Amino acid sequence: MNEMAQGFQRFSRDVFPTRAALFKRLATTHQPTALFIGCSDARVVPELITQTDPGELFVIRTAGNLVPPYTRGADGVAASIEYAVGVLGVTDVIVCGHSACGAMTALASGGDLTGLPAVATWLHHADVAKARTDAAEHLAGAERVAALVKDNVLAQLANLKTHPSVAKALVQGRVTLHGWVYDIGSGSAETLDTDSGRFVALAG
Ligand SMILES: [Zn+2]
Repeated sequence: MNEMAQGFQRFSRDVFPTRAALFKRLATTHQPTALFIGCSDARVVPELITQTDPGELFVIRTAGNLVPPYTRGADGVAASIEYAVGVLGVTDVIVCGHSACGAMTALASGGDLTGLPAVATWLHHADVAKARTDAAEHLAGAERVAALVKDNVLAQLANLKTHPSVAKALVQGRVTLHGWVYDIGSGSAETLDTDSGRFVALAG
């Protein structure tokens, strides 16, 4: 914890002054251009891997980058989506999976989650993805996890579309959805090509 407090001191003393104009503007404006939905995994740092400045990304991070389908009721993910798309007017939404995802590994391996009831319940939001991956019976081990990571991005994009704010923005052509998979070990990423339904190398 001390490391983080010292890190904040360094930020405040060394970094903040060099970006003073940016932070002055951000003090009174909040106009992110994209909503980034990624995994809570500590190795997936949205602003780092997209090289974006503070203020540019509205971020939701959940275990397994899961997006519960829309339901009425208290749901922090739904509220954040609604605010980002409906109020802030982000023009792009990225659902980003990643290699070696603990949540996807647990699902793919059928690990015992009886001691983790909240995790087990949460992961049901990936049931469709798991069913798709299960259908490819030849896959095993790391290949199976990698396939599930991709299937999960597809499933969460589908869940995203059940949110009224997203559905409305899509019909009005105000927002574009993107599916990414980030590879931690190589620092590369793939993006879903909506025409072919396949993931291809992410290029600018
Ligand atoms: Zn993960």
